This record gives sequence, structure tokens and C-alpha cells, in this order.
Amino acid sequence: MSLHDRSLHELTIAEQLQALAAKKFSSEELTLHYLARIEKYDAQLNSYITITPELAIEAARAADAARATGTAGALAGIPLAQKDIFCTLGVRTSCASKMLDNFISPYNATVVEKFNAAGAVCLGKTNMDEFAMGSSNESSFYGPVKNPWNTDCVPGGSSGGSAAAVAAQLCAAATGTDTGGSIRQPAALCGITGLKPTYGRVSRYGMIAFASSLDQGGPMARSAEDCALLMNVMAGFDERDSTSVQRAVPDYTSVLNNSLEGLRIGLPKEYFNSGTDSGLTPEIERAVQTSIKELENLGATIKEISLPHTELAVPCYYVIAPAECSSNLSRFDGVRYGYRCTDPKDLFDLYSRSRDEGFGEEVKRRILVGTYALSAGFVDAYYRKAQQVRRLIQQDFVAAFNEVDVIAGPTTPSPAFKLGEKSSDPVTMYLEDIYTIAVNLAGLPAISLPTGFADNKPVGLQLIGNYFAEDKLLNVGHRFQQVTDWHRRTPALHKSGTGVRAA
Ligand code: GLN
Repeated sequence: MSLHDRSLHELTIAEQLQALAAKKFSSEELTLHYLARIEKYDAQLNSYITITPELAIEAARAADAARATGTAGALAGIPLAQKDIFCTLGVRTSCASKMLDNFISPYNATVVEKFNAAGAVCLGKTNMDEFAMGSSNESSFYGPVKNPWNTDCVPGGSSGGSAAAVAAQLCAAATGTDTGGSIRQPAALCGITGLKPTYGRVSRYGMIAFASSLDQGGPMARSAEDCALLMNVMAGFDERDSTSVQRAVPDYTSVLNNSLEGLRIGLPKEYFNSGTDSGLTPEIERAVQTSIKELENLGATIKEISLPHTELAVPCYYVIAPAECSSNLSRFDGVRYGYRCTDPKDLFDLYSRSRDEGFGEEVKRRILVGTYALSAGFVDAYYRKAQQVRRLIQQDFVAAFNEVDVIAGPTTPSPAFKLGEKSSDPVTMYLEDIYTIAVNLAGLPAISLPTGFADNKPVGLQLIGNYFAEDKLLNVGHRFQQVTDWHRRTPALHKSGTGVRAA
């Protein structure tokens, strides 16, 4: 199919860049096209919290002008969306919380600055779980996001707005953040490609903190190639983030076509156990096994490995992440910025009522659990113990990467679940992240790739790499996407209430 035969939103970023360079259309036309789609389809999905059409058109015109004078940046004119956890100068940055509903950021996150410098267009800010705490996007102050493949179902979380917007082609790609799975799990549930980079690879400056030793921003896009194009812009050292890593950024696109001959893939026996009480859906296990056969056909060799501390990852995370969150979220005090209660009696009343009224239920649960785990008398039993378990989990991976190059398995145990199905039972919701959480505890990179359907809903294949092996993951992802077409499948959208199919 030639570029002319396809609607603009069907093109990947790589194709859009070619077409913009060849003057087949302008960035302004491309941007208006996406804004019209948002207008037409987002009412039913709720994937955006804030849409910024004026700023987007202005940026698109600037990109067109730069292209005309030969000064265009790497993503000049490409319409993206930012998860509403990234601070955007002059634009509301809410983190999907009532606490920050009135917060207009006075500065840009480094990631946003880098996209601006590369000439990308920002269409708006995407919906998410409040303060990125959740796996279903139901904890947002702005209401849940619907999965574009089945609007009775959740898109996953916490980057559910970004995942739904990319899947529904309401932006060319989006940013996400991943503390325990929040890029990979919604990517899997919405049938898109999402990469969680190595801890420290992408700057956290201006990314509202949830659990600082785990948080990492990354790309969510329609292909591994598009993720590579985004990573070329996002990655890199930032002196304003003390844990960002001083290490050269490779050109992630240059390795995409490398041969997979001899690639050693490890399959953890703890990840392939449907039929036990692990909750892994047999259809997902089958889809993942089929995709591993594809990788074998491309030259990879398979080896069974063991990650013996896998079952400790969820409990370990749910001590460490709340502990860090209880400390990070203490800054929301009703004094400096954000929500403030009306008519406080005294300072204590101002603090306590502002926090009580400003935070949602899940955020409060995490603050309480975290404060408890850090309190005198319990810190050794919970927080210190969890830190020790975290080390054991990390060592499992270090040992595994002596034997294999990449670890493969499912991204999630089950496909997208119904809205409301798990929201009354936090532990069931937490188990959604059983395959993703250990990766954050170890600080490793991992990617989720679309790999089939279960119950007519998308399934994700997770590939975990060694430290800084994002290039390898993107290479394997790209080669896989050359021989499969799961990533090209798109949901049929309906205009709200009218049942009109998407153009
Ligand atoms: N679902 C996990 C949680 O609720 C992970 C969230 C995330 O990665 N931001 O903590």
C-alpha cells in the first residue's frame, strides 16, 4: 500500500517522517488530523485529560517552518501525547489527582524539553491512574479510560490513557512511566508496543515522583521501530536527576535489523505455569509460546531458566513502593501548590483536610501502608526485609543473564478485564503485575510486544534485557514485527453513541 492510500493516522512515525520530508503533507495537516480524531472518538475512551490544540498547531507550524529551512529536529512535526505525570510548562499537570487539578506547571520535565527540542508536537496530556498507582486506570480523578478494543474493559494502568490513545490512533505515540509495569501492562492490554528502559536511562526530572528508586519513563508506540525513534530523543544523562546515568546513548534505530542468529532466549519456568493457581490464562501462554517459535525461526535458541524469587516480587514491591510514595507525597500539604481545603481552622486542619479531600482512596491506602512500613518498630520487619528480598530478586536476574541474552514470557497473566471487576479487591489488582514488577525491582529494561489475542483482546509478549540492552530488545522486537502483523491490528472505533466506524 502506498502512503497515498492510507489515512495519516495509519502511518507509523517512521513513515510520517518520510512523508513530511517528501512534502506529501505538512505537520499542520497531520496535527489537525489527529485533533479531529480526538474530537470525534475520545469522548468514549477518555484517554486525554487535557487537549492543547492551540499549542499543538503552533508547534506544528514551527516544525513546518524548520523543515522548510532545513533545521528540522529528529521528530519534527510528529504529534505525540504526554502522560499527565510529566510537567509541561504553562499547561495543567494533574497526575490525574484532585490534588493537582489546579496545578499549572512552571517548568518542563526534561523529557518534554527534549521532545520540544526535537520538534515534536504535543497534542495534550493523557489520563492515568492517580499518581500512577494502579493497573486499570480506574483511580483517575477524571474518570476511567476505556479499552479501545472493548469499551467494557479497562486499558490497564497506570499509563492507560497513553496506551488507549496510541491504540486508537489519537496520537502517533505517547510517553508512559513504569514503576511496576505501568508502560508494559497497558501496552499489552491495548495491543501496542511499550518499552520500560533501564533505571537511570531516561531522566526523571519533572516526572512527578511515585517511588523514586523504581520510576522510569519510556515510549509507548505502534512498533518497536517507533519506540527506537522516541528513545533516541528521550534517553540520556541529565544533571538535574541524580540517578540518571552518564553513559553514551546509542542510535537505537541502527541495530533494529541485526540478525537474531544465535540469540539466547531464557524462558523462566516460574512464568509458564497456566493450570496452576498462578492465574495465567492458557490462551495467553499459547500465544506467547507461538511467538517464541517465531523467534526460534529467526535464529534464536531457547533455554529454560529459573528466577526462584519470582513469587516474592509482588509483596516486596508493595512494601517498597508505598514506603517511597509515603515520603514523596508528603510534599502535597495544601500550602505550596495544589489543592487546599476551604476555611482551615489551623495549620494542622489545613494539612490534614487538604490531604484527606485532595487524595483518592488508593493513594491514601498506599500512604498509610508505606508510613506503617517505615515506622519505628516495623521498619526492620517490613522495609529492611523488603530491601533484602529486592537484592535476591536482582541476583536471580544477574545469574540468568550469565546464561541468556534475553528473557521472554507473558506481560500479563490475563487479557483486559472488565471495568469494576477488580477495583474492590486491591490484592487481585496487585497480582496483575506479577510478571512486570520484578523488572523494576532489579532496574532492568523490558519491552511488551503485541502477540495475538485472547478472548478477542490483545496479548503481550514481554522481553526482559540486561542492563542498558534497550537496543537488543528493540532489535528483537523489530525483527519479530517484520514477520508478524499483530502490531498492525487496530480496533474498530465508534463515534460516541452513533456506532459510526472509524475512517
Ligand atoms: N500497578 C502498579 C502499582 O499500582 C505499578 C504502577 C506503575 O508502574 N506506575 O503500583
